[in-house]
Amino acid sequence: MSLKFFNTKSRKKETFEPTEPGKAKLYTCGPTVYNYAHIGNFRTYVFEDVLRRHLKVKGFDLTHVMNITDVEDKIIKRAAEQGIELNQGNGSDSNAPIPLDEITEPYTTAFHEDRKALRIEDAEHYPRATRYIPKIVDLIKRIQAADVTYESEGSIYFSIKKCPNYGCLSGFKIDEVVSGARVDSDEYEKDDARDFVLWKSRKEGEVYWETELGEGRPGWHIECSAMAMDLLGESFDIHCGGEDNIFPHHENEIAQSECASNMQFVKYWLHSRHLRVEGEKMAKSSGNFFTLRDLTEKGYDPVNIRFALVRQHYRDPLNFTFDGLKAAAEERRRWTDLLIRLEEVTSEGEVSESMKTLIETADRQIEEHLDDDLATPQAIARLHETATAVNRRIDSGEIQTAEAAEVQSLFKKWDRVFGVLDEERGSLDEEIESLIQERLDARKNKNYARSDEIRDQLQAQGIILEDTAQGTRWKRGS
Ligand code: AMP
Ligand code: ZN
Repeated sequence: MSLKFFNTKSRKKETFEPTEPGKAKLYTCGPTVYNYAHIGNFRTYVFEDVLRRHLKVKGFDLTHVMNITDVEDKIIKRAAEQGIELNQGNGSDSNAPIPLDEITEPYTTAFHEDRKALRIEDAEHYPRATRYIPKIVDLIKRIQAADVTYESEGSIYFSIKKCPNYGCLSGFKIDEVVSGARVDSDEYEKDDARDFVLWKSRKEGEVYWETELGEGRPGWHIECSAMAMDLLGESFDIHCGGEDNIFPHHENEIAQSECASNMQFVKYWLHSRHLRVEGEKMAKSSGNFFTLRDLTEKGYDPVNIRFALVRQHYRDPLNFTFDGLKAAAEERRRWTDLLIRLEEVTSEGEVSESMKTLIETADRQIEEHLDDDLATPQAIARLHETATAVNRRIDSGEIQTAEAAEVQSLFKKWDRVFGVLDEERGSLDEEIESLIQERLDARKNKNYARSDEIRDQLQAQGIILEDTAQGTRWKRGS
């Protein structure tokens, strides 16, 4: 079955046909690094990770770019609040350190730590806007040459009325625009659409670069176009973000990029729905605003948080609740428990026809669901059904080692997309195993004090022991 995505631009599911056969070029809007990313941001980044992983499972040679927005209105405001002196040009030497790094670098590091905790894979490129100034300037010059810009007080604006395609992504109607009205801020609403700024002239106290366009800094929208076109080409396959990015950010990216290149900027636009928390929009004032760190400090496992996000389809509403997180943790445990049980199967034998059919059907259906615009809830339901069927066979002793290995492969294959199973048991596990052995010996020798001590020691490390007729099993608790 072919891979299909819901394209925001056509409002339809379309078959994925990459610009270059066998390759997939993906751009995802990254964090604005002036504070920690919140779990809403991570809904979007986790969806993009699932997309990334599925493209790889499907065999595409993937190039994924996620930008780091490290110069933007909110960052400059934060720097001013913290009294950081920004009023220093550094010419157009794109690699020299700048004072703004003092704000952005720690949050960039924190972002990478958080995404790794959520098992979000590394993109191939993480370009930073401040290190792209010369290329941003070149792109603005190309847009100027297309005669769709004008200057006012040293700033350069994009005239949206001169762009016949303006509105093609968001459905915005150009006739509603007041001619010549401009907007300097990076963020604004659709009913306030105006000519947007490509280059902002230098303001007292703000960071600036000395360039051919004069002293100033780029607007937010042009940053993404410049980084995407440089690293992926003028026309590439997929561009993603959260639903708030559709207007104005992505609409403006299309307008300026296509005016510069005369080519289609992006073929497929994918957007995730916003996450709500306990039924409400996340806001500091409502007390429902969570960064990943807020939750991990309370003891929640980031991988369970990942699963809570992945379980829901990216275009469906998702209400983050602590009950939902608990349910996700329990569901995930059903998979990890099954894998542990499978490791303990000892009876030798061939793979039966019925087991072969069970696995092949599940495998085919999971792939079909994920190919259908990343239908994660249905794909996960198929794995749950498979787990139930296999558990029944284990209970009744109707399973052989070869079959157990096939089931493990099925779960591991699709975990390349979901990313929630426990990693391979490594050297730490050998230590645990040896403590378990010591505990068994202690019990044999009726040294119950030592046996209890070992159980407590392991429990403190989050390892739960279960004594069964077949011996002692262990698993990681949450
Ligand atoms: P920002 O750092 O604000 O540019 O946002 C980074 C990414 O997170 C963008 O793709 C946004 O669309 C996305 N985003 C922001 N808020 C939410 C939310 N509540 N739920 C899902 N995605 C969000
Ligand atoms: Zn962007």
